[in-house]
Amino acid sequence: MEQERRTKEELFDALVHNALGFVNTSIDHLQHKPKNAIVDLYTAIELFLKARLMKEHWTLMLSKPETGDLQNLAVGDFLSVYLDDALKRIQSILGEKIDKDASENFKALGEHRNQIVHFAHSGMDNSSKTQAGVIVEAWASWHYLHALLTGPWEGIFQPYAAELQVLNQRMMRQGEFIKARFEILKPQIEIQTMKGNKIVPCGHCLMPAAIEGETHAWGTDYACMVCGVDDTALAECNEELPCPECGTPFKFFQQGNSTCPNCSHEITTDILIDLCTKHFPEGDGWCEDGQVHIASCHNCQHAQPSVFFIDGMWSCVSCFDRGWGAVACSRCDEFVTGDMERIKYFACHKCEPQVREQILRMAEPSASTTSEGGEPAL
Ligand SMILES: [Zn+2]
Ligand SMILES: [Zn+2]
Ligand SMILES: [Zn+2]
Ligand SMILES: [Zn+2]
Repeated sequence: MEQERRTKEELFDALVHNALGFVNTSIDHLQHKPKNAIVDLYTAIELFLKARLMKEHWTLMLSKPETGDLQNLAVGDFLSVYLDDALKRIQSILGEKIDKDASENFKALGEHRNQIVHFAHSGMDNSSKTQAGVIVEAWASWHYLHALLTGPWEGIFQPYAAELQVLNQRMMRQGEFIKARFEILKPQIEIQTMKGNKIVPCGHCLMPAAIEGETHAWGTDYACMVCGVDDTALAECNEELPCPECGTPFKFFQQGNSTCPNCSHEITTDILIDLCTKHFPEGDGWCEDGQVHIASCHNCQHAQPSVFFIDGMWSCVSCFDRGWGAVACSRCDEFVTGDMERIKYFACHKCEPQVREQILRMAEPSASTTSEGGEPAL
């Protein structure tokens, strides 16, 4: 039993290291072999998705047992089928929601990858993307992948946090090309301004090239013309808390703000939770007196409840995500944030593993797959 478990862990580790290696070579290739960069990054994304599935149950990463047919498929087709399947399984079997922007970005990268691979084989080569375009494409895909690995999947990929950070820094250094891209697009950005669109700085490439979209209570959507990322700029929270050391009030609700600006006292997440427990002793209007008013965050799943009702919004002082609803889960009674519909009809992040296990036990993988393009079902 012990032996078997270790083997699976080793396999998982090998898979993740393989994936990390492909991100690394992808960055190596960005400057001079942009096509290899796309192919390698796409491979890395698939490997990470596989690793995520494997962590749940090792059979979930097997593509199809009837490999006879698979060997006849073009490599590109096989890989694109796999990406789709992996995304579907993560959402249907694991019950995890992958951001639509992220899955669409991965699929688009996969299509680009297939074009490169197929044209290379047939000797035709017209997948004409500018170098800046490729870098921006890789940048955007990395953004979505990195967000998954360090956000909802942080607990799973935590042992690789240091490696991921190094890769992220390397990717961020591609900034000069992003600037070049910005210069090229400047006239088009100006046209957008003349059309009456509001242009704001993008939270990812930092270029003033993001077209503002819909505004919600928790922030404003934007689409960046330079790096192609769609995201939401979270509404600023200007509330202040007194430093536990010197008593000077400081703005605490921002990522990376870990010392007191006055006395440099270290402000950890635990300190913030303590301070907020004192200063924000009430939940929203739905919370009854005496009821728990600090919610567990579904986004970062911080061990302790970390979400307070601050400035009219549920706000996590661990990951600084805000704007979600908070309820007591009717299944496990935990006070949690998350997608209200999902909690109501499926599970909250606390009781999800048990609910999923129940579902898995009821429906073995054999009953849960699609058969596209006339392929044999799993
Ligand atoms: Zn951008
Ligand atoms: Zn201080
Ligand atoms: Zn959080
Ligand atoms: Zn629950």
